[in-house]
Amino acid sequence: MDKILPFIYLLASLGFVLAIKWMNHPSTARRGVIIGEIGMLLAVIGTLLRNDVVEYQWVLIALAIGSAIGAPLAYLMPMTAVPQLTALSHAFGALASALIGTAEYYKMTPTPSGFIMGALSAEILLGFLTTTASLIAFGKLQEILPTRPLTYKGQNFVSLIVLGGAVLLGVAMIAGVTDSWVFPTFIGCSLMFGILLVTPIGGADMPTVIALLNSSAGVAAAAMGFVLDNTLLIVAGALNGTAGLILSIIMCKAMNRSFTNVLFGAFGQVQASGGAQAAQRPVRSATPEEAAAVLDSASSVIVIPGYGMAVAQAQHKIREMYEVLTKRGVNVRFAIHPVAGRMPGHMNVLLAEADIPYDKLLDMDEINGEFPQTDVALIIGANDVTNPAARTDSSSPIFGMPILDVDKAHTVMVIKRSMAAGFAGIDNPLYYLDKTLMLFGDAKSFAGSIVRELSGGGTHG
Ligand code: NAP
Repeated sequence: MDKILPFIYLLASLGFVLAIKWMNHPSTARRGVIIGEIGMLLAVIGTLLRNDVVEYQWVLIALAIGSAIGAPLAYLMPMTAVPQLTALSHAFGALASALIGTAEYYKMTPTPSGFIMGALSAEILLGFLTTTASLIAFGKLQEILPTRPLTYKGQNFVSLIVLGGAVLLGVAMIAGVTDSWVFPTFIGCSLMFGILLVTPIGGADMPTVIALLNSSAGVAAAAMGFVLDNTLLIVAGALNGTAGLILSIIMCKAMNRSFTNVLFGAFGQVQASGGAQAAQRPVRSATPEEAAAVLDSASSVIVIPGYGMAVAQAQHKIREMYEVLTKRGVNVRFAIHPVAGRMPGHMNVLLAEADIPYDKLLDMDEINGEFPQTDVALIIGANDVTNPAARTDSSSPIFGMPILDVDKAHTVMVIKRSMAAGFAGIDNPLYYLDKTLMLFGDAKSFAGSIVRELSGGGTHG
């Protein structure tokens, strides 16, 4: 078995690397998921075949409990709840690393080498802090906890003291201190730091925090690989750690924010007075018939999907609209902002599910130059990612965030239910432009009415 195991682990690692590569594009993403699952199956089978697994009964019990919780969660959680589901799975994964680390600590102490104790300390510190931080992130996203940043005077200082305490105790353990209070206090500080880290961060920043926690859970798993002498854990943990970090960097760039601003900026604390202010300013609104007439006379349309499309599950109606308009000779394309929706790739997944051709989905950089030549920019439940204040208002919290330049199209139409703000909680000056028509209603039913209007008549062509 010892001869075959490295080979099985190598194949599993290859599966993970290919999974990440193929998930880069919608056309290969399904293949990526399947190869990742095969890699994980090989990893589990290989590990169970190791000579040091002597009894299977506890493994089977854990497998049954885990599957009984995991399978219904995966099936029942709606697509819009994937960020909180991810937070929950990070919490479980990190807790597993931390508990294994704790067991190994008591098994090995007082004999482990400085290196192993270093890896063990990193695993336990990151494991426990990721657990509590992920649970708080889950609570905020699920709105069980207040989503606003909870801040108090000197909070960064307190957090730093707690982290410093954990690091000092970790160093003491590496130096060979085995007093019975040291290890439990180390665990306490790690758990506490996770709570202190995420509580002051607003709900709007949770997806970025989750990507960072993905990274820390990965590093904890890699450290566990050193402790357990398991090369596959080191590889998988390192992949997870770097993928999470790269993802959070991409998300920060797309929002024009720095890590420190996300972690310590208490973004979203001042929820905009936008709603109240907005109610007093006049806007132009239109009915489905009027919207259909505008689309019918257009020769180019760019559709901008956002979080509201996901909430309304409007993607299938949008595909019907795409088909009707395309048949009439209208050039319809989709503009994808990197942080539209609530998780990276959110819009791509929904539009792919509705069978919109991949080549019609264009990234922000590819499509932004096209808006000035476009007849209609049709926004479906997107808000922040189209807000021109990001370009023009230096006092706006989203100033500098790259946005889709929808205001440069000849006509802008916005499907949303009200004048309510988006995730950033700020008013959108786009809605008050002369060229903008507000289409008030649920995205799915409004898009459905437009399709009916278009299918029932029209003279384009
Ligand atoms: P958004 O700014 O949150 O706006 C979504 C809009 O959808 C709302 O204004 C809402 O207005 C409308 N809506 C909700 N339900 C609807 C329904 N059933 N039918 C029609 N409209 C509906 O969304 P976004 O433009 O996609 O921007 C994403 C935001 O999330 C950004 O601020 C981004 O920074 C943040 N974020 C995203 C990620 C990511 O990975 N994607 C990560 C971190 C942060 P009404 O209530 O009036 O309908």
